[in-house]
Amino acid sequence: MLTQIINGHILTSQGWLKDGSVLINDGKILEVTNSDLAVIGAQVIDAKGMYIVPGFVSMHIHGGAGRDFTEATLGAFETIAQAHLKHGATTIFPTLSSTTYEVLCQAAAVCDNLLQQPESIIQGLHIEGPYLNKNMAGAQWGDYLKNPDPAEYIPLLETMHCIRRWDISPELPGAHDFAHYTSSHGVLTAITHTEAEYPEIKAAFEAGFTHAAHFYNAMPGFHKRREYKYEGTVESVYLIDDMTVEVIADGVHLPATILKLVYKLKGIEKTCLVTDALKYAAYEGGAIDDPRYVIEDGVCKLADSKSLAGSIATMDRLVQTMVQKAGIPLADAVRMASETPARIMGVDDRKGSLQKGKDADILILDKDVNVRCVFSYGKMVEGTNTMIH
Ligand SMILES: [Zn+2]
Repeated sequence: MLTQIINGHILTSQGWLKDGSVLINDGKILEVTNSDLAVIGAQVIDAKGMYIVPGFVSMHIHGGAGRDFTEATLGAFETIAQAHLKHGATTIFPTLSSTTYEVLCQAAAVCDNLLQQPESIIQGLHIEGPYLNKNMAGAQWGDYLKNPDPAEYIPLLETMHCIRRWDISPELPGAHDFAHYTSSHGVLTAITHTEAEYPEIKAAFEAGFTHAAHFYNAMPGFHKRREYKYEGTVESVYLIDDMTVEVIADGVHLPATILKLVYKLKGIEKTCLVTDALKYAAYEGGAIDDPRYVIEDGVCKLADSKSLAGSIATMDRLVQTMVQKAGIPLADAVRMASETPARIMGVDDRKGSLQKGKDADILILDKDVNVRCVFSYGKMVEGTNTMIH
């Protein structure tokens, strides 16, 4: 079926296009044109003067709707994906937090299966840990933490095809061998939960670590040891021009000033917005079933309210925060939630921008950056009939 979206500001690679239209056919973008004349036979969608932008690519996300990807079931994967899809995440790379090797294998098998399905929102798997520095990973996954083990990661990557990203602490013994192996197998390899300083970060980059997970979180910045000062991981990552970063832009994990600084120094093409969402994200009306946590100020905290436990953000909220709190232009914030993560995760041939031939993953956003309409592979999965002519 031919669909034509008209009467909106369309985000193109040349900037905003007004009075144009987006034509969709067979789940793909047929054309983005500067004409809004009705095409014969097309179903017309009226964007009512709102913004028409590419669907968001969610590359670091643990759960939602009360479920977590480490449940390693098809039901959990699908429920979480659907919950985040309503908030604009038309592409999702599920993240497994540190767990047992058996669970990693089971989740990878579920994900491999999903990738076989046509028009899957889920496009590959992301593993965080369990090869993490205990000093920086806290007690959260204490029992699972270990050094990189080639007897695990090599067979896992050889048998499962879905793994697209893997984050570990680069200072662990065996971490460089890990990064050589993963990066040469097309897996985005990221530093996370680390206390590495410049020489270690530089060596890690050369070994294959090209991305920094939840930048500023679980890594030190500039600090003093006795009377002398040292760069932290943060400054080291800034100094490596080609290292990409991601920020949890929920407005809580990082202040707006820091979001602005990352935008200014790393820029749109090297910065992604991520939710790093826990199971309580996109959980409208759901009750917290774990006494260790409370939800307060739009974030999940430990029950004593003294430290953050994780994010409950959705992709739309990240873009909102960047625009409304950090003062970043909407077009740039959207690109950091779509085009840049699509490129870094290697799906930019199909995802991340409104271009002829790409999957018709399209959002309509209102002036307050609320998602009003979601198209996934050309099908309207969220929106109102009043938009259909
Ligand atoms: Zn995470």
